[in-house]
This record gives sequence, structure tokens and C-alpha cells, in this order.
Amino acid sequence: MSRTIFVTTALPYANGSFHIGHIMEYIQADIWVRSLRMAGHTVHFVCADDTHGAPIMLKAESEGITPQQLVARVAAERPQYLRGFGIAFDHWHSTDSPENIELSQDIYRKLRAAGLIETRCIEQFFDPVKGMFLPDRYIKGECPKCHAKDQYGDACEVCSSVYAPTDLIDPYSTITGARPVLKSSDHFFFKLSDPRCVAFLQDWTTGENARGTRRLQQEVLAKTREWLGKDDGEAKLGDWDISRDAPYFGIEIPDAPGKYFYVWLDAPVGYLAALKAYCSIAGLDYDALVDPAGTTEQVHFIGKDIVYFHALFWPATLKFSGRKTPDQINVHGFITVSGEKMSKSRGTGISPLRYLEIGMNAEWLRYYIAAKLNSHVEDIDFNPDDFMARVNSDLVGKYVNIASRAANFISKYFEGELRYTADTTALAAVWTQAADRVRADIEAREYARAIRDIMAMADRINQAFDAAQPWLIAKGLANADAAQRGALQDICSTALAGFKAMSVMLAPILPQLSARVAGELFGLDRPFVWSDAGVLPTRINPFKHLMQRVDPDMLDALFEPPAAPPEPALVPGGEPIADTIGIEDFSRIDLRIARIVNCEHVEGAAKLLRLTLDVGEGRHRNVFSGIKSAFQPEQLIGRLTVMVANLAPRKMKFGVSEGMVLAASHADDAVDTGIYLLSPDSGAQPGMRVR
Ligand SMILES: [Zn+2]
Repeated sequence: MSRTIFVTTALPYANGSFHIGHIMEYIQADIWVRSLRMAGHTVHFVCADDTHGAPIMLKAESEGITPQQLVARVAAERPQYLRGFGIAFDHWHSTDSPENIELSQDIYRKLRAAGLIETRCIEQFFDPVKGMFLPDRYIKGECPKCHAKDQYGDACEVCSSVYAPTDLIDPYSTITGARPVLKSSDHFFFKLSDPRCVAFLQDWTTGENARGTRRLQQEVLAKTREWLGKDDGEAKLGDWDISRDAPYFGIEIPDAPGKYFYVWLDAPVGYLAALKAYCSIAGLDYDALVDPAGTTEQVHFIGKDIVYFHALFWPATLKFSGRKTPDQINVHGFITVSGEKMSKSRGTGISPLRYLEIGMNAEWLRYYIAAKLNSHVEDIDFNPDDFMARVNSDLVGKYVNIASRAANFISKYFEGELRYTADTTALAAVWTQAADRVRADIEAREYARAIRDIMAMADRINQAFDAAQPWLIAKGLANADAAQRGALQDICSTALAGFKAMSVMLAPILPQLSARVAGELFGLDRPFVWSDAGVLPTRINPFKHLMQRVDPDMLDALFEPPAAPPEPALVPGGEPIADTIGIEDFSRIDLRIARIVNCEHVEGAAKLLRLTLDVGEGRHRNVFSGIKSAFQPEQLIGRLTVMVANLAPRKMKFGVSEGMVLAASHADDAVDTGIYLLSPDSGAQPGMRVR
């Protein structure tokens, strides 16, 4: 029976580029979706950017742009990743969209009407300079336990103790450095502790969906049992604070001026918003798809860090706003690189964009990740040696190799004609059964098992081929009889039938390669579907090269150089490298391209030149620079350079300097090795930001 399935991956937070963890999740979901589509089911596969909350608001502010501009910039780079890795989303949406505002507010109103929203006055740290309540992550101070300095408001990174921000000694706001004050405000709570919610979640988390499979994996269920307080009916769940005070980039709470939904309230609603937007583009009936009495299955792929939101809050908000609840939550672990947890700040890990830019084949990564994934919440490791071995020895050496060996004999001696001497019905049945097994494994998200199975088939085909020694028959073919010719044709045809069946099985994992096999080699005018596995091919086109092996140089290029040298080193400039800073420190410095529209000597100043700069602001800036020893004013007029545009204006003897231009020199003035003004590559325009 044909199924209709609504599938999502977790919404990525729109404050930065995709990392390898995102790509792993998309590959996992994409393989699942493609397999179901190959079986003839209808799948609507959508995702969206998660756009709201304090981090995006503050990041945009530090860059001098609106949150919408920041989100748009991040969204604009999404397609190159998705296309690059062959991820077939039907639609990519945003939580900062009319659909999401309408749906979030509607869900809230229904929860309120059900008596599940409560207002409480709570006290929180407030930054008196910035004029905003501070999320825990924006408060730092001394750890109350081990007295380590500069620890976050929720936990100490040195001694791992967990505490409230109010426990910190000498707390400060990381936004302004000000000492926060306690201030009270009304907050809205979703009453997760309400007996109706608890009873529903007890049932929903332990129950099965309409297909008779569990909604949660065993280890996820165990986690929710802990949170829900086992079976004693006594809820351990706290109510959920769903509101934030202005200033906040988010969705306004109806009838509550100055209050916004906490980003985690409207983020999962983005799944529905994305589906709704897609339905209006594709002409589908959204209401029918999300009808609680309907047969659409709703399936979410997420990482293990956001189980709490997806296994408790999300089903409860859906249920008590009268909506359909999820049928399955598929949780995966994290991806590590050479055993190290991916961390942006440490600069380890691999960049998916770099992977594509250096010309690595996206399907190598799809294959490798599939070969590692199973249905459990386990971390997987990207190991470069293992990656190269699996792609070169297994994927290319075993699977692709079959076609290149067998196809050449068929093209050379039999004009592409395939013929089998054995019972073809039995042969077709073998491949139908094998494909059924692999399809079931993929649907159960046992990808590693599916790939082990396929590679074992490749081994068997290669062994049979080698044992038959077709090259010996081919050598003597001029004097061979009909039986020998038939044997050669049969050996190669059987191998190619196996190759075709394996290509069908690998199609969800390697969509591009399998589409080429279907079209170029077997002459199909469409990509493979599951039922193709049991159809024996009758002829082939000449074999074309299908896939390169991984070049070890590529793997060297893939790994980013470490972010900073571990020890301060003396450099030719005569100065040790300064202390490490975070990217947020750097981003506070606004560097801009400036055109030097005029330059002149300053009377009475031995070292200074007066620069008139255009930074694209519609006005000119006056900047004094100590570069007179190296330049004649007329050399500089018309040149582009880089300036610090947000340096506080400085009153000098000769006038106000509104910024600073950048130049390189030796630390010691006495070492006269020159002064070198920075220039951008040609094409840069005044006002462009340097980052
Ligand atoms: Zn501590």
C-alpha cells in the first residue's frame, strides 16, 4: 500500500554555515527518503532555517546589520551545500515567515484556550547598559565551586558543576561587561506538569504509531522515562518558560505587548510552516496532510542533543493544540573526526564546503557515512584512512570494478547483447530477494548492515567471475565453439545483472552514480526504482568510466590547518603573536575598504599624513596616519586600503581623526624595514567589510 510521509531534518540555527554534522543528518534522511520514493511512496521532505532568538539578534547587531539581513546571508549559502551533497529537499523555508508566525500564534491560542498557559513573575539577570534580560550564555563570572574565572552562567567548564547564574561570583554581562541586576518580569509558561500532559506523554512516548512500530528508539525511550518519572504517575517535568522580553528577535505573543515566543517554541513549528509553504507552491492540500485523523506519517530526523524538545515539548504542544502528533522521531549521534568531537572554536573538523571545493566526490561521503550509520543513537567517526579504504577498496575496487571488467567483453564480442544460459527466473528471484532485504534495512535505518550485505554480494560476484576466468576464453575466442562463446557471454551477463541489482540497492545512497548506470550503461530513461533489481538486463551500452579513487592529497587538503599556533612564536616582524581571541572579539572590529580620495602633508607634523577617505557612507572621513616616512601624498591618492571604521574618533593636535588605516611595519621603529599600507585585491569597493 502506498504511503504518504512528511519528513523533516532538524532546523539549523541561521547564525552560521553548515558543518559536517548537519551534512551527516541530511545524508541520513535523504537516503531514507530516496529509498521510500523508489518504493513508490509519496514523501514530502522539507526543512527551514531556525532564525529567532538572542544569538542571532546580537550577532546581527555586532555586524551592524538587521537580523533579517544576517538570516538572508546565511540562507543564501545553503543551496550550494544541499546541491553539492545531493540532498533532495522539496522545499527549504524559514521560521521568520508568515506561515510560521500564523501557525505559532494559533498553537499558542489553542494551548491557552485549553488552560495550559500560565503567567508567572520571575526574577532574572538584566543588563542595565544594554537594557535587556540576559540568557545564561551571556552571563559570565567566577565559579562558586572552584573559583575559576570567566565561567558561563549555567555551568563551569573547569570543574563541570552546574548552577544558576545568580550563584556566580562577580557576574558580568558578556555583551557590555556591566554587572547584571536582578529584575522581575511576567513570563508565560506551558504547563507541561499538567496531569493531562503527563498522561499524554506517558502514552505517546511508550506507544506505537499506526504502522505498529515504536515512535522512539529504545535508548531515547529510556531517556524520556527518566524525565517523565518512570511509571509512578508523579511528573518530574517542570513547566516550560515559553516567553522572552523585548528586545528579542522572534514572534510576538498575541495580546502580550513586548513579549515574544522563546525561539524553541516557534522553531519546531517551522516544520509545519515549511510543509505549508511547500504545499502552496506544489498545489498540495496542507490541511489534509496534517489532519490528525488522516494517514500521513510525520517523521523527524534529529540529533541526540535536542531529544528533550522533540520527544516532550513538541508532541505535547501539537496534541493540546488539536494537531497531529509525530509518528516517529529518528535520533542519531554526533560525528567525530579522527576521534575528536567537532568543535568550531578548536578549528578541528572538516568543512563540507572545502570538501566540495577541492573536488572531492560528494558520493564518497554519502557512501562512507552510510557505511557507518545504524538505527541507534551512536556517534560515528570520520577517519581519513578508513574513508580512503572503504571508497577505494570497497566502492570502487569491488562494486564499480565488476562493470568495468564484464562490460568490455560484452561490448567487444557481443555488440552489447546479454544472454544467460542459467535459469533466468531463478537468477531474477535471487536479486529481488537481496534487494528486498537491503530495502528493509534502509527503511529500518540499518544502513551499515545494508552496505555490508551489498559488499558481500560484490565479493561473491567477483569471485565467481575470477573462477570462470573469462579472459582465457576471450583469448581463444577466434577458435572457440558456440558453447565457449555462450559461456563467456553468460559469465559476463550474470556479473552485469548482479551489478545492475547492486546499483539499484545503492541508488538511495549514490543517486548520481546510479542514475548514470541506469542511463549510460543500461539505457533506461529514468532513475532506478526498487523493482528494477529483479529485472535482468538484456543489453548494455559501452562502459564509461564511473568513479575515481580518493587521492590521498585530497585528504591532506581537506583538513583545515590549526586555528592558531600553540605557543607565541617570534615572527619576522619582531613581535610575538598576541593572545588568542574568539571570533566574536574579532567581529567587533569593523574593517572596511576605503578609497583615499585625497592625501596631504600636515604642517608641523613630522610623521603624519592627512588622508581623506571614502568608506561608501556618502561622506568623507578625515584620518591622520603616521606613514609619512614611506609615502609621498600623490602616491596614495586614488588607492584603496583597509581601515578600522568603528574606532572611536580621536582628537589630535591637528584635528579629529575618524579611524585608522592599516599598515605593516617592524615592531621596533629603529629597525627601518619600511611601512607597507594594506591594499585589497582589485575589484573591492569602498565600504565593503573585511572579515
Ligand atoms: Zn568550577
